[in-house]
Amino acid sequence: MANCLFCKIIDGEIPATLVYEDDTVIALNDINPQAPTHILIVPRQHIDTLNHLTEADTFIVGHMVQVGQKLANQLGHAAKGYRLVMNCNADGGQTVFHIHLHLFAGRQFAWPPG
Ligand code: 5GP
Ligand code: ZN
Repeated sequence: MANCLFCKIIDGEIPATLVYEDDTVIALNDINPQAPTHILIVPRQHIDTLNHLTEADTFIVGHMVQVGQKLANQLGHAAKGYRLVMNCNADGGQTVFHIHLHLFAGRQFAWPPG
């Protein structure tokens, strides 16, 4: 997808250090971390928002969550806990329109979210 930040990173047009990658997703540290661990898990397939998901994307989204769980575990956050978040559109706080799962960990998070 032209002019998509995450597609450019996935295609290697913009250099980035990946913390994980496989055939379906990449993961990288957020440029503006909101927690000691703040990783973005991004599908290689461009999907604009959660509103654009179809049944065909069920594996991708499930896999994103599995990767989040594995990274949280590998980084030692499983027992204390962590948060996985996907934002959608303006009210959800989405700023990059290629779906991604945030993994936040390393501090206590408030609920309800701000
Ligand atoms: P959203 O607000 O769409 O849920 O999340 C987008 C995230 O992408 C934000 O947390 C933002 O800090 C992060 N971000 C924006 N530009 C870049 C970039 O160039 N590199 C990385 N690693 N993260 C970015
Ligand atoms: Zn994209």
